[in-house]
Amino acid sequence: MIRLVLTLDYELFGTGAGDVTRHMLEPTSHLLRIADDHGVPITVMAEVAEILAWKHEPSWDWAVRAVEGQLMAALCAGHDVQLHLHPAWFRARRCGGRWQPDFDEYALPGLPVEQIRQYVAEGAAYLNELGQRVDPQYRCTAFRAGGWLIQPSPDIVSALVEAGISIDSTVFPGGCGRTGRWELDFRGATGRVAPWRADQQDIAAHDPCGPLTEVPIHTRQVPLWAMLTTRRFRYQRRLLRESGCPADAGAQVGRGHRLSKVRPFLPQKLDFCRLSLRELVSIVDRARRSCEKSPDPVPVVAIGHSTEFNDSRTLRLFLEHLRTRRPDVGFARLGDCLP
Ligand SMILES: [Zn+2]
Repeated sequence: MIRLVLTLDYELFGTGAGDVTRHMLEPTSHLLRIADDHGVPITVMAEVAEILAWKHEPSWDWAVRAVEGQLMAALCAGHDVQLHLHPAWFRARRCGGRWQPDFDEYALPGLPVEQIRQYVAEGAAYLNELGQRVDPQYRCTAFRAGGWLIQPSPDIVSALVEAGISIDSTVFPGGCGRTGRWELDFRGATGRVAPWRADQQDIAAHDPCGPLTEVPIHTRQVPLWAMLTTRRFRYQRRLLRESGCPADAGAQVGRGHRLSKVRPFLPQKLDFCRLSLRELVSIVDRARRSCEKSPDPVPVVAIGHSTEFNDSRTLRLFLEHLRTRRPDVGFARLGDCLP
């Protein structure tokens, strides 16, 4: 049996472009409404570094109040809010009417250990303070790294544990690639569905004594051609248009450009913004089959982005399908996924 964990990365674009209402508040409000209609929890992965940057800009007070209001209302309604970090936002500046993240700090693994600890601690403390305004029991216990950049992992794992975080949900099994000078390699976890105690040296590897639990973003290996769908091309085109494309090198990193060797099979994430209804149903059915014999329900993490959620019909149909045809599929919040 599986428990589906619907996570939403809640953020503007990595380039600093985007509109808080159009790319965060409105899509998240639509998503939460659909989830509420179906009695399903959402885990909002709040990109805290940008919210903290906005606090330095008085003309953005309204944005801070609006996102904080949305996050607190989500918690009150039974959803979850956990930590997502794009460190380039910590030193972002507002220049010429747009945000300019500091791309020298694009990747958490590229930072000195003290800075990693400081940023993770600040992010967790911010969410703890915000969450406890509406629920004294609230704790930030789960994390996802910006751009999936979490390797090398020893310093990051230490920083997470120190900040009271016991779950990471960054790894997408089978993933491999480069963003600028940073690399990710999750091929050691290819095919894994169930969470694992993560090896501090390499979060994609299993160590029964590891200090935190990896609850991976669910993937399946598909042939290269299966990723070349019209729907996916449409999304990529729209993202390129809306994320802004200034010609500096940092922006290329910010757009998440990945250079990877052509491989015959690629990991397809369980992404409720990008996949069609047929793909969503098929990937969930395969996960159900692979977890049939598990004595405990296995958390299966789906991912979406507030910048990409513009097809509420597919999600409605998907949840309706699960409710009526797959009653064995349960739902969970990421913060509740410790084994
Ligand atoms: Zn992100």
